[in-house]
Amino acid sequence: MRNCRKFYINGEWVAPAGRGAIDVIHAATEAPMAQVLAGQPEDASLAVAAASAAQAEWAATPVAERAALLQKVSDGLNARLDELAEVLAAEMGMPLGLAKGIQAGLPAANFSVFANIAKAYEFESKVGNSLVLREPAGVVVAITPWNYPLHQLAAKVAPALAAGCTVVAKPSEVAPVNAFILAEVMDAAGVPPGVFNLVTGYGAEIGEALVTAAEVDMVSFTGSTAVGKRISVLAAQTVKRVHLELGGKSANIILPDADFGKAVVKGVAGCFLNSGQTCSAPTRMLVPENMRDEVVALAKAAAEEFTVGDPMTNGGKLGPLVSAEQRSRVRKYIQKGIDEGATLVTGGSDAPEGLTQGFYVRPTVFADVSPEMVIAQEEIFGPVLCILTYRDEDEAIAIANDSPYGLSGQVWSQDENRAIAVARRIETGDLYINDGRYNLMAPFGGRKQSGVGREMGVHGFEEFLESKALHLSS
Ligand code: NAP
Repeated sequence: MRNCRKFYINGEWVAPAGRGAIDVIHAATEAPMAQVLAGQPEDASLAVAAASAAQAEWAATPVAERAALLQKVSDGLNARLDELAEVLAAEMGMPLGLAKGIQAGLPAANFSVFANIAKAYEFESKVGNSLVLREPAGVVVAITPWNYPLHQLAAKVAPALAAGCTVVAKPSEVAPVNAFILAEVMDAAGVPPGVFNLVTGYGAEIGEALVTAAEVDMVSFTGSTAVGKRISVLAAQTVKRVHLELGGKSANIILPDADFGKAVVKGVAGCFLNSGQTCSAPTRMLVPENMRDEVVALAKAAAEEFTVGDPMTNGGKLGPLVSAEQRSRVRKYIQKGIDEGATLVTGGSDAPEGLTQGFYVRPTVFADVSPEMVIAQEEIFGPVLCILTYRDEDEAIAIANDSPYGLSGQVWSQDENRAIAVARRIETGDLYINDGRYNLMAPFGGRKQSGVGREMGVHGFEEFLESKALHLSS
């Protein structure tokens, strides 16, 4: 068991007495793999005080120096990629091979990306007679979930530090071990005391204390829409900047002229990535009414290719879900879909064959899903695909937009311009056109109840900057 019963505050590892311990559970063995401390409001105060004390000097540190440190962090993470992948596969359940590239590799790359963005960024510009300065937002609290835990931390910490902000990070207690490796790497890289601080514990305890702390200037949160709303309300008391990356229920519109063989197979794979625990997963596949049978056959065959098994040995294309709670939640949604009258094409709410231990769920496809069904409206966050049909393009767009969420989406057509025209009418923060690739430099984030603000690339960097105008006499 890894010892994570400590916080990283002001450049020191501290282990205050009297804090409860929270078990971190291995997703495949269901055994405890580590323990973290249940941080209390007084721990939040110490961490925020450290970040606040370090803020001015870090903001005044030349950008080239900040960027050099971030590059060292990137190198440090890359040097520990195998270890990170093992930890992430165990606490999250993603197969080791994929975890190394996605869960560990992406955040390592992101520290380097933000070092380069900061180096190239124009922090001052002239607007008429005014000199406009772009200054760090200040002390940032970063609160993150468990599904891509290190990526979500890096997507906040790297741009915040690059911009000259100091950070207090609170990862999800469900998958926090990777964050300890990040803190060790920060320490080894020589990031000054107080610039990056790590605490753990429950959201309702230490999380709320961080969000309400007076010296905190900004809260950057990724997680559920319900908690995002709560954080907005709390942060409003001191009028903090709030950046929210929340849930999603993204539509994958396959237009009549698309290459169905490719679109359906890729759509299933996108939905099932990370066992469906991806906020931007294309979970609603929208297909022309007359293609229903063909699509269902293609989706069934594609879904049944998704074997499930031990993530540590790459024993399946999919690993378990993150926790017992998540497994039970997803199985309930599968049962709900059956009860609502959707057609169960493959999968189901029982355990996958031969897997009695680990938080496994059967990859599941529903057809004949109507837009008002619960499984078409709510975020399931498991390997569950809903197939819906439409009569014409306008109806497809209306169904896609019939959601409280507005995170991501996908449009397939042999005619790229037609797909782009449809994508322009979808109310989300990003969309994939055919098999468009993920781009680390492009903005990512949601509209409607999927969030406020953007992460990644220059847009994500700018979230951590404030503008100040100096009006000159000429
Ligand atoms: P969650 O329950 O909202 O928790 C996210 C984080 O918030 C955790 O660190 C949690 O701490 C903390 N928290 C909970 N209540 C809090 C409170 N009252 N005050 C302050 N912090 C609080 O989400 P999750 O279950 O971990 O993650 C899954 C959700 O994240 C899904 O809805 C998914 O769509 C969303 N997500 C969105 C994006 C995006 O970029 N849009 C990306 C990934 C995931 P504890 O867990 O320690 O209590």
